[in-house]
Amino acid sequence: MIGTLEQMIKDMEHGVYDFTKDGKCSSCGSCCSRYLPLSSKELKEIKRYVKKHHIKPKEHIFPTTEPMLDMTCPFRDEENKICTIYQQRPQICRSFLCSNPKNGIWATKREFHAKYRVVDMRKEIWEE
Ligand code: SF4
Ligand code: SF4
Repeated sequence: MIGTLEQMIKDMEHGVYDFTKDGKCSSCGSCCSRYLPLSSKELKEIKRYVKKHHIKPKEHIFPTTEPMLDMTCPFRDEENKICTIYQQRPQICRSFLCSNPKNGIWATKREFHAKYRVVDMRKEIWEE
């Protein structure tokens, strides 16, 4: 089991988890997490955008008997396969592309986590 997890992390580091189509983001949403490292300026701008456009958080339901924390980004509209704040999405979302090994999940995480605080967007944008 541990071997499998290690292999999975290695694969992700080397860009094996490539969900792009013809080299472009397929908007699959697999990388859209509710926890993102954001600058305070970005958070402020997103809050303003959400208020202005009356954006409500999206819920993501998984087939399970146990209640689960919704880890997907509250801006991910799964039905229409879009980001509801696309014009105002943060830098990490603009930079990340799963097929790029140099800018893969861990490299991007390290870069942004070193600079910014991780924000629970569902909590900080709608519940505080
Ligand atoms: S960058 Fe994210 S949304 Fe785009 S294809 Fe890769 S995993 Fe999917
Ligand atoms: S802000 Fe948009 S692009 Fe970024 S994680 Fe959320 S849904 Fe995905």
